[in-house]
Amino acid sequence: MKKFISGMFSTLFLVFNISTAFSQGLDPILIDYPDSIIINANVVSMDDAGINENVGATYQAMAIRDNRILKLGTTNEITALAGPDTTVYDVGGRTVVPGIIDTHAHIWQYAQSHWGPKLGNQFDITAEDGETWQDVIDKTLKLASDVKQQFEPDEWVLINWPRKVAGLDKNVAIRTHQIMTRQMLDEANSTQRIAILGNRGVMNTLAMETYGTYFNGDYPPEIDPETGIVISATVYRHLFAEELYDLTATMAMIEQEIREWTAYGTTTFSSSIESFRQMTAVLALDKEDRLATRVAYGLGNTFYITMKFHPYLGYDFVGYGTDKLWFNAWSTTSNDGAYPLIASTIEAPPEIKERELLRSRVPFTGEFASQGVRFSNTHIAGDRTLDITMDMIESGSAQAGLSLEEIRAKRHGSDHCNLNPRPEQIPRLKRLGMIMSCTPMYIARTNAVEIAEEYGEQYLEWLVPMRTILEGGVLGVYESDSHQIAGTGHYYFLSQMVNRINIEGKVIAPNQRINRIWALKTATTWAPYYLHMENEIGTLEEGKFADIQVLDKNYFDENAVPDLMLKTVRPLMTLVGGEAMYLDPHLASELGREPVGIQPQQVIRQIAEWEAEVVR
Ligand SMILES: [Zn+2]
Repeated sequence: MKKFISGMFSTLFLVFNISTAFSQGLDPILIDYPDSIIINANVVSMDDAGINENVGATYQAMAIRDNRILKLGTTNEITALAGPDTTVYDVGGRTVVPGIIDTHAHIWQYAQSHWGPKLGNQFDITAEDGETWQDVIDKTLKLASDVKQQFEPDEWVLINWPRKVAGLDKNVAIRTHQIMTRQMLDEANSTQRIAILGNRGVMNTLAMETYGTYFNGDYPPEIDPETGIVISATVYRHLFAEELYDLTATMAMIEQEIREWTAYGTTTFSSSIESFRQMTAVLALDKEDRLATRVAYGLGNTFYITMKFHPYLGYDFVGYGTDKLWFNAWSTTSNDGAYPLIASTIEAPPEIKERELLRSRVPFTGEFASQGVRFSNTHIAGDRTLDITMDMIESGSAQAGLSLEEIRAKRHGSDHCNLNPRPEQIPRLKRLGMIMSCTPMYIARTNAVEIAEEYGEQYLEWLVPMRTILEGGVLGVYESDSHQIAGTGHYYFLSQMVNRINIEGKVIAPNQRINRIWALKTATTWAPYYLHMENEIGTLEEGKFADIQVLDKNYFDENAVPDLMLKTVRPLMTLVGGEAMYLDPHLASELGREPVGIQPQQVIRQIAEWEAEVVR
């Protein structure tokens, strides 16, 4: 209709009133002028979804209108479309690619730790060389006792423990050896709410009871009521989201954090929502148009355990929502633990096998499948856990009477690829049409060293095995799952898929390296399949949302940016729905505009360091 009216009015103006119309200025609403154009660019559309090295069509320029890509073409063609109010971004030959889609990031948690009001009552217990866990226990109990007079009754006292002491992992010490219990904490302090934080933690009774109030007095499976041992980080994420911040503060933190992620090139992310307050905050931010990126959310255990009924189950709401916020999947949050508390099929010494763990909530995977809803957004670290997950998807889907075609259409997902898939799992993943969301974080950090030491060097081939996945015809997509992005940017993580060199300089299973084009496709072209949004985002095509990064370097030029320097690429401008959410000050001054968004100081410093290393 708009086109028809605009055509009719143009004709009227031409016949009767052309000079008056121009002197008064045409209402641009009546004409299909672009809101903005990007010219003199190396636009790489990434619109070839094949598992190949083709980047798809390339262009010089792009016109954007009503949040979407209106036209792609040469600089001359696109410049000719511009009207008087069109914003012109002459990017001086820079490379333009689709925005980063991060299929698993705990933005809510990062928001709290990053922007949340600093809590005065946080304490770090450290262990010097030669000290044991007994020393840590003694220091903790002394601290708990000392703070009794210091704080008001019922205040939270949060304690961080060291990750490893005398060779024993903290999570194993707490969960397997139960070195601390709520009774021990109670004896030291039952006045304040005491919590030892982490994937495995411990609470005193007062803290545990507070958590219980969010579950109608029943303790959910992630906390052992006998010992007060917390066996999932989700407990704390949920608890603190409800306890420590009100709705206004929660909204402000999440808004800030998401805005900052646009400075790393993020235009969409997917995440499980872990508390009611966060759910409310995200819905409210969307309603007030304060979400800087698109957000696909999964609903996890907090929701179905608390509600004791399944309001959404029985109907698959995947994709339901707005342009900025939609439902992605039901999630159990995690089907096993964080390394080393994973479940594998690998033969290993008894002390390793006995710490392996599956979550009690794993059966929900089958329940979701039997209700015909999508399962995804869920941490699955070991290969045995993936076997069991696939068993449940198959048996649940059979119960629901789904055909293989219908199962495949769900695109159930498995997140992380920590120690999976093993090669033999590929045909089954492919048959079920599952998508693997993988974080290169595990290549980068010490995880790989531990796997090699504890299970054997050959199993590094199962660590984020991008080549096995993609050559096997299974879709593999990118996730960060880490706030480390704030220090390195996404391109460091993408470069890990290409180089596989960890922070200590060790090469990790080089057979699993993939080329840079595949690496970028995991975060652009292929990623929206995980979000059921491939018709809207992920590539630069006419009609799709204008979610775009303007890069500081030509990512595709192997001479200008060798593999080892891919980590130094960063966006100078990020558009979401055509709107500049991030604009670097230097590019801004080139464009004669004001900078936009939160400048990623840490990433800029880190990249400068990497660049300086090469010069030296
Ligand atoms: Zn995660």
